[in-house]
Amino acid sequence: MSAATIQKKADVLVVGAGIAGLQASLDLADQGKQILLVESQPSIGGRMINLSKVFPTLDCASCITTPRMASVAHHPSIDLLTYTEVNKIERTNGKFHASITKKPRYLDETACIGCKRCEEACTTFLPDEYDHSLGAKKAISIAFTNAIPQYPVLDMDECLLCGACAKACPTQCINFMQEPQEIEAEAGAVIMATGYNLTEISAKKQYGGDIYPNVISPLQMERLLAPHGPYGGVMRPSDGKIPDSIAFVQCAGSRDKSLGVPYCSRVCCMYAIKQAMLLSGSLPIADITIYYMDIRAFGKGYEQFYQNAKAMGIQFVKAKVGRISEDENHNPILRVERQEDCSQPEEVTHDLVVLSLGMVPAWIPDRDGIIPLEIGEDRFVRSVNEKITPSLTSMEGVFAAGTMTGPKDIVDTIVEAGAAATEAANYLRSQEGR
Ligand SMILES: Cc1cc2nc3c(=O)[nH]c(=O)nc-3n(C[C@H](O)[C@H](O)[C@H](O)COP(=O)(O)OP(=O)(O)OC[C@H]3O[C@@H](n4cnc5c(N)ncnc54)[C@H](O)[C@@H]3O)c2cc1C
Ligand code: SF4
Ligand code: SF4
Repeated sequence: MSAATIQKKADVLVVGAGIAGLQASLDLADQGKQILLVESQPSIGGRMINLSKVFPTLDCASCITTPRMASVAHHPSIDLLTYTEVNKIERTNGKFHASITKKPRYLDETACIGCKRCEEACTTFLPDEYDHSLGAKKAISIAFTNAIPQYPVLDMDECLLCGACAKACPTQCINFMQEPQEIEAEAGAVIMATGYNLTEISAKKQYGGDIYPNVISPLQMERLLAPHGPYGGVMRPSDGKIPDSIAFVQCAGSRDKSLGVPYCSRVCCMYAIKQAMLLSGSLPIADITIYYMDIRAFGKGYEQFYQNAKAMGIQFVKAKVGRISEDENHNPILRVERQEDCSQPEEVTHDLVVLSLGMVPAWIPDRDGIIPLEIGEDRFVRSVNEKITPSLTSMEGVFAAGTMTGPKDIVDTIVEAGAAATEAANYLRSQEGR
């Protein structure tokens, strides 16, 4: 039998705890507003926790994210729900009513001490989403080292029900029968901060990203470059070889009408340049080539970052990559059509290839439900006042922050989150005494 529905009340409901949701929640909580922050994943932090370093400063990504994650977790005015889905948000009599489901982790969070003994005892290995399937995790595991909160999730679909984790747990908190918990929440305003996904690596069939082991996604490269990455360094997934020649293929998921992504994803040139620079630091003798159509280095200090990369010896080749195949040793072979001369297409072999995939919205109202916000042609949530207040959505009292309204870098995401928090606070003020 499921537990009785829990009732919650907050000034603002924030959906999504990536850097945008974290920043908006902190800004409002510091003004004394009560926040209910709901994240669907087992930990807060969003995509940034997957990144190694960030352009253009090359600061470590977790040095920016982890302090904000900790501040959110310890803030007395923020009620945090992780591993929790928002099913529906409706507006009645000027208030928002949300129906929410907390998914079972199959353990009692009030008793769990995060000791990981369950994880050590489990012998069932699964691909680890945190490392984008380059590494493995156990069927019961904490999402990553500095995850918040430090409670594991048991994957009931893959669990053998052998009971080893329950035997090892010193607090006897594992509960294989745990049910989802229903929650009803009321809030005065809503901030949606549901972020982005990458375009599918299989989308461009001619690149074989889902077939060839050494053609990888940019988030996989972030994990290879991270200090505690799955292989402890940059190696090829197929054979563990340290690559001598690495290529980036730009616009491998953007500016392509046939994929439904006609727009530029804005950050791909910059993350490819950043990864190339980090690679040339960790593999100084490797050849690194970026195949591009245009380089879009749009932000403050970004053009200089690009020039620095050129000065470091990274090769920028203006070319179309028509298709990718591989040889018998899983070396990717690129068919390259250079744009700066009229030479014939050539075949170039590299050890490892990164496809610079594009950004698409993680949540799309007319596909995923929850709340019926208007979307634009690009399927991102539409801002009704793009130039002056980009966080205003088509519904009064609902604000948007971060990459859910379109591709953007971390700086713009944080600025927009601050703007959404200000707009939400203004809106709450305007509703007082009504
Ligand atoms: C390979 C790569 C490298 C990058 N490197 C850099 C860099 O060096 N510098 C830089 O400035 N930018 C970089 N970026 C861009 C950066 O990742 C984004 O700007 C930033 O992470 C956006 O944060 P966000 O909060 O908008 O979205 P996200 O990080 O996607 O967070 C959204 C959160 O919402 C949650 N969520 C989604 N749907 C729901 C739902 N229905 N209910 C509850 N929760 C939900 C998600 O689980 C997630 O936690 C890079 C991007 C890529 C792909
Ligand atoms: S019961 Fe499941 S999660 Fe626990 S140790 Fe066995 S396989 Fe792992
Ligand atoms: S062994 Fe028990 S207390 Fe320790 S992390 Fe696992 S579930 Fe929590």
